[in-house]
Amino acid sequence: MTTDKQNTIQVALPIPFANSLTYLLPDTITRDENLIGTRVIVPFRNKQMVAIVLSIKASGYTKNLKYISHCVDDSSFLPKSLLGFLHQVHTYYLTPLGEVIFCAVPKWYKNIKNPALPKELWWQVKNRLTSKDIAIQLKSRKQENIYHYLLDNGPLQSKSMTHIETNASAHCKALEKKGMLIKSDLCFVDAHPPPDPDFTLTSDQSKAFKTINDSTGFSSFLLDGITGSGKTEIYIRLVKQLIAVKKQALVLVPEIGLTPQLFHEFAKRIHGRVAVFHSGLTDIARARAWSKAKSGDIDVIVATRSGIFTPFKKLGMIIVDEEHDLSFKQQDGFRYSARDLAVLRGNLEKIPVVLGSATPCLETLNNAVNNKYTWLKLRSRTNKQALPTISLMDVRQHKMHKGLSKQVLQLIKDEIEKDNQALVFLNRRGWSPKLSCQDCGWVAECDECDTYLTYHKHIHRLRCHHCERLYGLPEFCPECGSQKIETMGVGTEKIHQGLSNSLKDTKIIRVDRDTVKTPNQWQRTVDEIKTGIPCVMIGTQMLSKGHDFPNLTLVVIVNVDNSFFSIDFRATEHLSQLMVQVSGRAGRKDKEGKVVIQTQCPQHEFFKLLLGKSYESYALHEIQLRREVGFPPGSFMAIIRGRSRNEKTLNDFFEHILENTTENPTVSILGPIPAPMYKKMGQYQMQLIFNGNERKSLHQTLKQIIENLANNKMCNNVIWSLDLDPINLS
Ligand code: ADP
Ligand code: ZN
Ligand code: ZN
Repeated sequence: MTTDKQNTIQVALPIPFANSLTYLLPDTITRDENLIGTRVIVPFRNKQMVAIVLSIKASGYTKNLKYISHCVDDSSFLPKSLLGFLHQVHTYYLTPLGEVIFCAVPKWYKNIKNPALPKELWWQVKNRLTSKDIAIQLKSRKQENIYHYLLDNGPLQSKSMTHIETNASAHCKALEKKGMLIKSDLCFVDAHPPPDPDFTLTSDQSKAFKTINDSTGFSSFLLDGITGSGKTEIYIRLVKQLIAVKKQALVLVPEIGLTPQLFHEFAKRIHGRVAVFHSGLTDIARARAWSKAKSGDIDVIVATRSGIFTPFKKLGMIIVDEEHDLSFKQQDGFRYSARDLAVLRGNLEKIPVVLGSATPCLETLNNAVNNKYTWLKLRSRTNKQALPTISLMDVRQHKMHKGLSKQVLQLIKDEIEKDNQALVFLNRRGWSPKLSCQDCGWVAECDECDTYLTYHKHIHRLRCHHCERLYGLPEFCPECGSQKIETMGVGTEKIHQGLSNSLKDTKIIRVDRDTVKTPNQWQRTVDEIKTGIPCVMIGTQMLSKGHDFPNLTLVVIVNVDNSFFSIDFRATEHLSQLMVQVSGRAGRKDKEGKVVIQTQCPQHEFFKLLLGKSYESYALHEIQLRREVGFPPGSFMAIIRGRSRNEKTLNDFFEHILENTTENPTVSILGPIPAPMYKKMGQYQMQLIFNGNERKSLHQTLKQIIENLANNKMCNNVIWSLDLDPINLS
């Protein structure tokens, strides 16, 4: 028997349920701390896979271990600081380390056959010419457009200009020949930034800016500012200061659609190199932004939630804009909250974290109330414009025309006559959410899901919004044979038609997933609306976020009453945020805005608080209520969800969990109960809800369960997941 010790390495692999696997390190590779964080190739189940080295140890027990095949990187691929962060993420979310670590690896680098990243080309204006000189030098209208666009927007790649001119690349080359543009293979700093706007910060803005800018080490700030109060201006000034001392910034936004807007604002103003990072980019573009952030060749990354895992050479600040937005929470697979991780990462890297919103989520607000976060308030709009007036339209007695009351239609007409824009907000696409028999009450449902089918008129089909299955329309009621089958309720499609009928010559723009399918389409739609043409927009969530429509003066919100009857205790929180955000789209320039809410429940307490007072009053009241009943943020919650085609297997799975969980007086367990949609896509769904008043003991309980489930055959026919800090109960 040999007692010789051999070098082993522990690696992370992108496979479920594994923290790390151990391999042997061949003698040809020296044992070196620098191996940690690099990629190696290892044999795994007859395949060669990319793995990340976590640690190296000398071990006496090496039986059955395999050798790694070879190393990929000469130097660190994932920096130590990032690895440290990922370890903490794994500990917090009780998600296998391998899964967490590979969240931080762009797809491009997971395939080692991929070559070095191809070069890219950036263009910028060589000299800022006067309009007269431009006209003399440029005979081509197209080249002139490109030149002006680059002047306005700073350095760009030709692919970001294709919406200006189709053959942008050729025009750029022609302009280069004329000595008017220069190119670089690296995103360069704008040599001709437009002058800073000449306004001075308001006193609220200055105070907020100074407080954050003067802070040292880690702290979290809640920048609680109404829409149009100048939060973005504060971000820009903070980031400018950072870049001056050679530090980098990470700016997280909820949606891909909001990245171009912030990208341009930063690129124009900060005198630094800016890149975007989100899932809509090509693999190469994502890998490039990632590696430039790592090497310090980018100053600011504007990213959606997965950007929280980007490595940085010298990260100086994390900003989370619209921090209340639900998109920061990944809702399948590894369910992390990028906002919460921003705070965790800020703490590790000892840097400030700024959470900005007009409607902070209750968890964040609670931390501000308890002085865990510094609460910075901006309560007036920079243009001194009052927030729009919000009024309720009690429609109980009104006759409705395709979802809108006569009075509301008149209000819309009035605005259009004044050449303004109006927006009708409704969170439901399609023609109508129900098809039902007038004789027996039968309602068309999906075969695979416990849900009603939505009627879509343009395809004359019923569609399930959960599994997207399509159904033809029945001629007779399958229950009683009656022919009196009718649609009930309204969706965006029906309102669109109603508006087109009553406003014959007005442009109606519908924005929902059926009409706007790609980011490009979305950008074009936003650009069109921003030109200020008189029009009525009708749309879902997509329209509620971040965008600034200067000519919008009337917002109509339809069909919010459902939230009052929801089983989800967060329903009114989400509704209030949505309503305030949608309202914030109105009256942003010098025009006054109006918001009208069509409702059947005008007496509801919710409206009294939100409209009579403010979002803050509503939110503080709601926090108090939640504390009284012991719900977050007054407690800590987690859900274990499971689904299976077999009801018994699913029940057994949850019974097994309950039997093997040690009781803990500070953690209450509710369930197993059926999920609000018991059957979805042919599978049954159940859940266990954990609610505890101490995070630590909740964590212990969950940890025990997760460890018990690892490699447990109970899991074979059940797909399960753990959701820590869930944002909904469905
Ligand atoms: P928010 O992000 O809070 O919605 P923005 O930062 O986008 O607000 O500011 C709204 C508008 O007001 C922008 O056009 C911005 O340039 C302008 N602005 C910001 N700060 C000031 C200020 N101190 N004085 C005048 N205008 C300002
Ligand atoms: Zn019937
Ligand atoms: Zn379905």
